[in-house]
Amino acid sequence: MRVCWRKIPSQRNSMACLSAACERAGYRLEFVNGPEEDITLYSLNSITGPSFIPEIRDADVITVVGGPHACARWKELVRIADYVVVGEGEFTVPRLLDSLHTNGPPPPGVATISSYTPIDHTVFLDGNPSFGEYKGYIEISRGCPFGCTYCQTPRIFGNRIRHRSIHSIGKLAQSFHDIRFLSPNALAYGTDGIHPDLRSIHSLLRELSRIPDKDIFLGTFPGEIRPEFVSEEAVDLIARYCSNTRIHIGAQSGAESTLQKICRGHTLSDVWKAIDHCTDGGFTPVIDIIVGFPDETDEELLETVSFCQEVARIGYVHAHRFFPLPGTPLQGRVSRDLIPEVVSALGSLALSGRLTGSWNNPEIRFFSKISK
Ligand code: SF4
Repeated sequence: MRVCWRKIPSQRNSMACLSAACERAGYRLEFVNGPEEDITLYSLNSITGPSFIPEIRDADVITVVGGPHACARWKELVRIADYVVVGEGEFTVPRLLDSLHTNGPPPPGVATISSYTPIDHTVFLDGNPSFGEYKGYIEISRGCPFGCTYCQTPRIFGNRIRHRSIHSIGKLAQSFHDIRFLSPNALAYGTDGIHPDLRSIHSLLRELSRIPDKDIFLGTFPGEIRPEFVSEEAVDLIARYCSNTRIHIGAQSGAESTLQKICRGHTLSDVWKAIDHCTDGGFTPVIDIIVGFPDETDEELLETVSFCQEVARIGYVHAHRFFPLPGTPLQGRVSRDLIPEVVSALGSLALSGRLTGSWNNPEIRFFSKISK
């Protein structure tokens, strides 16, 4: 049975971890640029995913669709794909391939036009390397206890944060010169995700620093940090063990009232404290923000612009435009228009080189990040 994986640039990390899971189960995936026999697997995110719908619908091979978009929109996708993987795929995809091989029924976690049994497990990260032959980022933690209203992460991976062991991370790190971590909040490693505790991250960094000829990057893409986890001690740890000169912090708004509306679970003062700790420790802060939330007022937008202008004096801003991701509380809402003052101020910051990303085109959000 030939099993193919449809190459989609934004889904490289899913490709890495699922091809590793399939390899372990005895299925070697072939990477393809369109549907091919016998089976073609797709991982779709909610921004670029919809553009693959016609291809999947017209495919005359068995199609299996998963990823964030499939988790949120499986009831629609069962009408165009043969199988939809709802939830984490590391166990479910190999089980589905086994059942296709033996003509058995689809396993839990798979929806079809005629059946759906919810997933019956949670993935244990140590049992599933982040990648095999095809390399991806080292995923150190999965799941998030916060509930930001625009974010799919806790809705797909749950509210309990799980961590990969130091031993497992160390083994994966052998494959790289630059060690980078995938995490919803890199400084939350080893914690419940809510209460900062540096003991585990310290042990991890100390252990990784013993591997010769490696550069460790912590608090950079793809594992930015929540502001309330950035302390003087945390910055000292990064300075001691890591090679990055920048620390990437998720703030998402410069207006206190917007932070409350989007349920960020931290204050603007937390953001400024984090920025101060970064600069005191010799790091350049890079601050993530989103503009155009549906209920954001003109005043709140202007507060965020002022915040960005302040940040730009000492660091960088990475801006996104709000996008209503399915499966989140803000699904189905529309990004509000940006007033001319906001467009012009953000444009000026971009021209000065202090702001990157795209506040006008949400589709660019997955493809441009400052990383060092
Ligand atoms: S944006 Fe970050 S902190 Fe908020 S729910 Fe998503 S992963 Fe968690």
